[in-house]
Amino acid sequence: MKKTNRALMGIILAAGMLLGACGSGEEMIKKQDVQVNAASDSLYVKQVEGLPEDFIMGMDASSVPSLEASGVRFYSFDGEEQDVFLTMAQAGINTIRVRVWNDPFDEAGNGYGGGNCTIDTALEIGKRATAYGMGLLVDFHYSDFWADPAKQMVPKAWEGMDIESKSEAVYEYTRGALKKLKDAGVEVRMVQVGNETNGAMCGETRWFEIQYLMQAGSKAVREIYPDALVAVHFANPEKGDAYLTYAEKLDYYQVDYDVFGSSYYPYWHGTLENLASVLQQISTTYGKKVMVLETSYAYTAEDTDFNGNTIGDGGTIVKNYPFTVQGQANSVRDVIETVNSIGGIGVCYWEGTWISVGQNSWEENSQKWEAFGSGWASSYAASYDPEDAGKYYGGCAVDNQAMFGPDGHPLESLKVFGLAASGSVTDLRADAIQDTTLYVDINGTLELPTTVSAIFSDDSRKEIPVTWNLDKAGEEVMFASGVGTYPVTGEAGGLEAMLYVALIEYNFLENYSFENMELDPWVTRDAGGADELYVEDKVTDSLTGTGHMHFWSSKTDSVNFDLEQTVGDLPAGTYKFTMSIMGGDAGESNIYLYAVINGEITATMPMVITSYGNWDTQTIRDITVEEGQSLTVGIHVECRGEGNGAWGKIDDALLNSQ
Ligand code: CA
Repeated sequence: MKKTNRALMGIILAAGMLLGACGSGEEMIKKQDVQVNAASDSLYVKQVEGLPEDFIMGMDASSVPSLEASGVRFYSFDGEEQDVFLTMAQAGINTIRVRVWNDPFDEAGNGYGGGNCTIDTALEIGKRATAYGMGLLVDFHYSDFWADPAKQMVPKAWEGMDIESKSEAVYEYTRGALKKLKDAGVEVRMVQVGNETNGAMCGETRWFEIQYLMQAGSKAVREIYPDALVAVHFANPEKGDAYLTYAEKLDYYQVDYDVFGSSYYPYWHGTLENLASVLQQISTTYGKKVMVLETSYAYTAEDTDFNGNTIGDGGTIVKNYPFTVQGQANSVRDVIETVNSIGGIGVCYWEGTWISVGQNSWEENSQKWEAFGSGWASSYAASYDPEDAGKYYGGCAVDNQAMFGPDGHPLESLKVFGLAASGSVTDLRADAIQDTTLYVDINGTLELPTTVSAIFSDDSRKEIPVTWNLDKAGEEVMFASGVGTYPVTGEAGGLEAMLYVALIEYNFLENYSFENMELDPWVTRDAGGADELYVEDKVTDSLTGTGHMHFWSSKTDSVNFDLEQTVGDLPAGTYKFTMSIMGGDAGESNIYLYAVINGEITATMPMVITSYGNWDTQTIRDITVEEGQSLTVGIHVECRGEGNGAWGKIDDALLNSQ
């Protein structure tokens, strides 16, 4: 598969479009011959084998007109100001996706934001895409603003309509909108009837109504663009059999569609293996084409437009690739490979062009977001969506997932679309260094790691040498500051490395809280027994965790045992031993902690049991161990209880250096 073939195909498609436009006598879109030239000196792209030339390499670029109105300028890979759609075509994008809202404006004509995308936006974008030989993917939300799994609000003008009228409205609207594009000669290759319609669409929440509206949209597409594919679109492939249920419903109602599309955001949407499995199941069972209609990945954790981002460092998100330009490309490349591996028809990136409208201040950007709709939502959206947009309106939350930098220059990752088929072999380099956390006993010594784990440009992982910026004085300050976590920077493979030194009171005992749910390496010495003496899994009876040592005896004067652990290879030093016990009905008792060195008891500490929930915690201090000596620590429990005998729980043994 050669890159030139893809470029050639673009020319042929463009020529075909010319004929079509001439034939209908409509306004002609001036075509430009675009050469795909994605060669890169720095980007590594592992070849996706068997990638067909007509594989859809899509980019949602819905925000571009609003960004340009806000003053944003885009550049070519050579650094010249250039139409961003041409740059994308040159990078190997062959399809441009655009969202369409019915009426994203308030009564005074102020835009809700998110690009204020209407069919007129799609018209402008469609003309530019067509001019560079790219097809248009029209994404009807059938709403006046964002439609996703969380909300599918009905357009203002359709509120209160019964399902018959609403269906008619969907049909007429879709027909009229597409006719506009058709008349202008826009090359529409796919149309989505709904966006992320997970069990809701256009204000309807039952499948009978949803499918009815989808049918109406599909019918209009077939009439205006008979060669275009009709797509349905869902999100959350990770949720069990949800996709299969949707596909069953669509099949049951015989909805006329070609493509079952999924969103796939790697942070939330499960593994690629799962994605492949659920999509393949649908293509096999129902004979539908499948694809990813939205994906994206962060190239940096930094925000660039003074409006916080959805994805950053921290939190509980899944981060399979580093947040670098190369990591972003690797993520997209792997989605392409996954979709292709199951015979899927394409992958569309979401909003790779949505960048900051300015570098100066939030105030300056905010004025642009309000005036041109170039943020995710403006304050004017409050009249339609008071709970979400009305409260949290502002700028772009995905600018760190764009494929253009904040200055409008394309990132090398954009070339992944043009390079996936052929691959791009560049010198492997460390692309990111994984943070290291080192747990160190506060009374021990610090041994800094000599290597760190590096992620290379081909996404392989390897240990490489590191140097840390920590001298003896810095180390002393750290230890003097006490228990806590201390960041240390370093250098590895030309990149910054981060080490977090966690100074802790190291516990030399194993299974210290009985969470293994077994005794080992503790031992009991039974000196008179107990009816019950075992490790118990019961959170309400544990000091921490769910496991603890339990004892009970029905008989008088029958609880008498030792519970202990021996620690070999202890560094010479001074230690303290702590343990906790609770229980009752002990009668006259003899309970104590003990420390044994080389077979001789060197210290004890008395304890008591009183009643349920009253833990007694005691510590033996100043246990001095010399080189080569073995230390045994434990608890002796002896109760001369009357009647039902004694019972109790033992938990959390700590042997710390002192
Ligand atoms: Ca932002």
